[in-house]
Amino acid sequence: MKVLIVGGGGREHALAWRCAASARVHEVLVAPGNAGTAREPKVRNVEVAAADLPGLVALARAERVDLTIVGPEGPLVAGIVDEFEAAGLRCFGPRRAAAQLEGSKAFAKRFLERHGIPTARSATFTRADFDAAWLRARRTPLVVKASGLAAGKGVVIAADHAEALATVEHMFAGQFGAAGHEVVVEEFLPGEEASFIVMAGGGAVLPLATSQDHKRLEDNDRGPNTGGMGAYSPAPVVTEALHRRIMQEVIEPTIRGLAADGLPYCGFLYAGIMVAPDGTPNVLEFNCRLGDPETQPVLMRLKSDLTELCEAALAGELARSRAEWDPRAALGVVLAAAGYPESVRTGDPIEGLERAAALPGKIFHAGTRLEGTRVLTSGGRVLCATGLGASVAEAQAQAYALADAVRFPGMQYRRDIGYRAIERERGAR
Ligand code: AMP
Repeated sequence: MKVLIVGGGGREHALAWRCAASARVHEVLVAPGNAGTAREPKVRNVEVAAADLPGLVALARAERVDLTIVGPEGPLVAGIVDEFEAAGLRCFGPRRAAAQLEGSKAFAKRFLERHGIPTARSATFTRADFDAAWLRARRTPLVVKASGLAAGKGVVIAADHAEALATVEHMFAGQFGAAGHEVVVEEFLPGEEASFIVMAGGGAVLPLATSQDHKRLEDNDRGPNTGGMGAYSPAPVVTEALHRRIMQEVIEPTIRGLAADGLPYCGFLYAGIMVAPDGTPNVLEFNCRLGDPETQPVLMRLKSDLTELCEAALAGELARSRAEWDPRAALGVVLAAAGYPESVRTGDPIEGLERAAALPGKIFHAGTRLEGTRVLTSGGRVLCATGLGASVAEAQAQAYALADAVRFPGMQYRRDIGYRAIERERGAR
């Protein structure tokens, strides 16, 4: 079969690599891909942008693609699955109406409240109906969120009412463009964060291996927020008991609620969870796709055929499927460009990739491009050095050995990815 992966980041390199490993797949196309997918056996990049829906439909038709898997949220929220379905093409992901779970935080909050799924108390405003008195009556800190897609940047934790009011004003004034015309203000929830990713289809759910990412730029979770500086799997924070609670109190009611609302869900579903001190799993957000960089360590551990799982979900047969996981831990360290996340410099040459290829583990590319035979940086998150090991600590050592083998001017990365899990491992010994 022929598979098409939509997108060009580290998540998409991992998806393409995993699909290419399947004996039933003879070719994987990636639109538009990066230097890593360009060099992957059985994989071919095609210059069609992830946002070009008519171009992607035409590509899938012309190349007789059997299965398309969508990486980023943009095309899902724009309705890529509806377009592919209308053209008689199989595309793994939610339709536009269901992708609103990620595309509109206001929609997600109304959905959660309607179905009694635990989440922070909130109110949604536009400039026309903004109620400053409501906001002033709330306890601080408050969390202010642009409702629409803001590339992970539209969330501000405001320490006091003045900061919350100023943040709301900035969002209405267009700080995040149209994404901030509607604003969600919610209570701050204390606790520990966990992410939880499942595949869904035909009313059934298959949880993926647990994972955890690090959002902050600097060691010890300091510095500005980023798209993610590293991730590991499994995540010891998700104990068996918590896993059960998240399935029963969040995932299952979400899939049932979507079906009841006439929005049957097919695709990856990612729930960002804040575990309250009493163990309640509160939903912070939904993503309608895999996380980046969580995908890289999670797919390193997947032993089952990903294309078979996607096909089972699309056929409504996921209930009969099982996913097999490598019992080892995997850990990915993001190597970021100079200036990331504020003002990214691109065009720097990357060295040492051949040296790294001879080491155990795998370097996934994200913001890279080929220029002749040279690999240059082309985005904020450049590479994700991913290791495997008997423990998170061993996976971490393998990942850092890979990271140390490559270099480019201005390269920056955290030295402590996985530290919480490693502390837990030490505590358990
Ligand atoms: P979101 O995109 O909604 O997941 O928010 C981004 C990040 O902001 C989350 O990963 C949390 O660290 C933090 N956050 C969001 N909402 C809350 C909340 N209600 N209480 C505490 N932290 C939050």
